[in-house]
Amino acid sequence: MRIVSLRAIPVELTLKEPFTITHETVDTAVNVFIRLETDQGIVGWGCATPDSVTQETEASVLKACRGPFRDLLVDRDPIRINLLNDVIEQQLPENQSAKAGVNMALYDLLGKAAGLPLYRLLGGYRDRIETSVTVGLNPVDVMVARAREIVARGFTCLKIKCGMDPHQDIEAVQAIRGEVGPAVKIRLDANEGYTVEQALQVIQTLEALGADIELLEQPTPARYLYALKEVTAQCPVPIMADETVLTFSDSLKAIKLQIADLINIKLMKIGGITNALKANLAAELAEIPVMVGCMNESMGAMAAGVHFACAFKNVAYADLDSALDFTDDVVTGGARYENGCVVPVEKPGLGIEVKL
Ligand SMILES: [Mg+2]
Repeated sequence: MRIVSLRAIPVELTLKEPFTITHETVDTAVNVFIRLETDQGIVGWGCATPDSVTQETEASVLKACRGPFRDLLVDRDPIRINLLNDVIEQQLPENQSAKAGVNMALYDLLGKAAGLPLYRLLGGYRDRIETSVTVGLNPVDVMVARAREIVARGFTCLKIKCGMDPHQDIEAVQAIRGEVGPAVKIRLDANEGYTVEQALQVIQTLEALGADIELLEQPTPARYLYALKEVTAQCPVPIMADETVLTFSDSLKAIKLQIADLINIKLMKIGGITNALKANLAAELAEIPVMVGCMNESMGAMAAGVHFACAFKNVAYADLDSALDFTDDVVTGGARYENGCVVPVEKPGLGIEVKL
């Protein structure tokens, strides 16, 4: 099989409501769809979601896809993903989300060629995974109402954004716990917003109040590795690295230095499934469970995260809720939500249909 064309098509999608975390508020998200066509007529789809986290823009993704990626991939055998990934990594060490979009399109092709849903092709550890749904930063009453609404839709795990104001964070989490009861899991994500002392104080206070926090994600600034390690050493709740582990080499460093109990692998940060496979294996060898998270991803991108998360035992957590957030997604299939879980569809590859 041979790739005959690579197209990159940007789509601006509208969020149902503006989303606020520590450093920004957004109300739309650009997803760049990647379409690979082969000489056998099989089409592979992927999707890149450029974000300030990876220092990418729609323009940078389009430039990479329409230039170097096209030159590197057209005329190549798409099944040789490990070789292609190596060539791409050597020539394009950055462009993380663009690489992720291209890499997942290669895996979509592989699944279609094999006639298998991607999660089964990758080993199929489970056929569904519980996912958290995010409660963004807002006034406490708005956050409580949002949590109530998520739980009413059958979800069993909340990811509450925090990190702006420790006192308000404690108040919000306590109010949400009171509202949703003890059975719902609550994880926190501070998006780098705390000092070591603030992180410990927030968790200790919440634990004393019986808030029962599952984990705390990225309490301290990404580049202060030893601050994160300090929180990890002292905190009674497991600490997860997210912004600290942008690339594959960041993930290896975090694993080697044991700066967190858990790491959050997002395909858009790490540059696709091939790199995620390696990082997850390295983490598993170090006995560090992994979460698969997402950016502002339409189902076109998020489906790859769902398939990846279901394939491996060491992916103990999923935060795959972004496909719920858009009013005008151009993708159907991929995965569905059921009883608090996200479930990959039983169709070859990513199982997505893209209507552009
Ligand atoms: Mg995070």
